[in-house]
Order: sequence, then C-alpha cells, then structure tokens
Amino acid sequence: MILIILLSLALLTALTWFWIRRSKRPALPDRIPAEYSHLLQMHVKYYRNLSPAQQEVFTQRVAAFLKQVHIEGVGTEIDLTDKILVAASAIIPVFGFGDWKYPNLTNIILYPHTFNEKFQYEGAGRSTMGMVGSGYMNGQMILSKPALHAAYALEDTKHHTPIHEFVHLLDKTDGATDGIPEYLMEESTVDPWLDLMHREMIRISQSESDINAYALTGDAEFFAVVSEYFFQQPQLMAENHPEIYKMLCLFYKQDWVKERELPH
Ligand SMILES: [Zn+2]
Repeated sequence: MILIILLSLALLTALTWFWIRRSKRPALPDRIPAEYSHLLQMHVKYYRNLSPAQQEVFTQRVAAFLKQVHIEGVGTEIDLTDKILVAASAIIPVFGFGDWKYPNLTNIILYPHTFNEKFQYEGAGRSTMGMVGSGYMNGQMILSKPALHAAYALEDTKHHTPIHEFVHLLDKTDGATDGIPEYLMEESTVDPWLDLMHREMIRISQSESDINAYALTGDAEFFAVVSEYFFQQPQLMAENHPEIYKMLCLFYKQDWVKERELPH
C-alpha cells in the first residue's frame, strides 16, 4: 500500500515537473533570414527611409506575408529577390495598419512578361502587367515579373504596378473594387472622397493634372493610380495634390512628408 502511494507520488511529481518545464519553454520565434533585410535595403526605397525599428517591423511583416501567401513563377524561374519585392509591395500600403493580413489572397503568379487573353483584362495596355483575380481566379494575383522589377528600379516615376494591384485587393476587402475603400475610411469621408476624385478626373481629362490618365478608366483605377503616386512620390503628391495627399494619409495611416513617421 505504502509502495503504491509512493509510486503514485513519484509519478505525480514527475508529471508536474514535465508540465512546468513544458509550459515554461519559451516559444521560439521564427528566425528571419538575414538576406531579407539585405534585399529590402538594396531594392526598396520605402524601406531605406524607415527608422531601424520600423525596418525591423517591416522585415517581420514581409516574412509573415511570405509564410501566408504562395508565390510561384509560371514560364519563368523566380528567386528570393522576386519574392521579397512582391512581399514589400504588399506590405507598403498596409504598413500603417499594424499586424494586418490580406484576407482574400492565397497565391501570386509571376509571368515572364505581360500576359495573355486567357484572363480578363481591366482595360488596354498597362492592365496586362498585373491582375487581381475574380470569379474562379479569386484569391489569386498575377504580376508580370518585368513590371515588378521596373517598379523598384525606376523609383522616380509615379508608377508601381504591384502596389497598384495590392491597392485593388485592399479596395476589394469590403466586397467591391470601386475606388471607395470603406474598410479604410470613416463614413463621413466617403462623399468628400468621391467629390475630390471626380473633380480631379475632370482636371485629368482637361490635361490639367499630372496624374496618369489611366485613372479616368473608373473610380477603382483612380484610387489605384493615385495610390501608386502617393507611395512612389509622396513629396511631389503633397505639393501638387495636397487634398488627395491628405485623404490618402487618412486612408493609409501614413504621412511620410509631414512626419517621416507612422502616426501610431
Ligand atoms: Zn487597375
């Protein structure tokens, strides 16, 4: 009897010891390969302009994105640089939202060049450089690899195809790709935004604006085009389009001209 009690006590002690050890073991954070920050530093101006603390957060979010979303090349080999550039394009527009994840994205395909008629085009010309899938292509994005690289090689332009596509995806989060990112805005800003957008469209159509005329394709394209401009040339946009700049700062919770910092 005593033996049984002693054995039970010993077993209980051993189990308690294992349980304490287990619960005390710290969860090991995933190690982020050093190449991630090297590649971001090398290719991404937005990243270079961040403080060291912000760069660390950015790199972590890039790593989390790459774990969440599958990126593959079709008809082309892809490497880590391609993946990092895609992930950076995804994180830049949502960097002000804390630990936010795209709910409607599982797969990104890189094509060797502008792509074919099998998929719906958004319009002529540039639309073939990137596409956010709908219908049976829901959850997918297609990007042309040269357009991805051009976005980072030509930093002084107002164009950025991958950011353009991620902005469509963000716009789509509320159910409609309509240039009104309800998800990002206070209800009271919907009307002023529509007003601002349509006034600027008139200026574009009269060649009085430096915003790419592709923005005239519709409200969703206007939102994506001005967002490219906002992230590529914030200073220029703040000077040339202060009202649009201010509105986009509100949407994206980032103001790189005034604060050089995220407001949170
Ligand atoms: Zn578009």
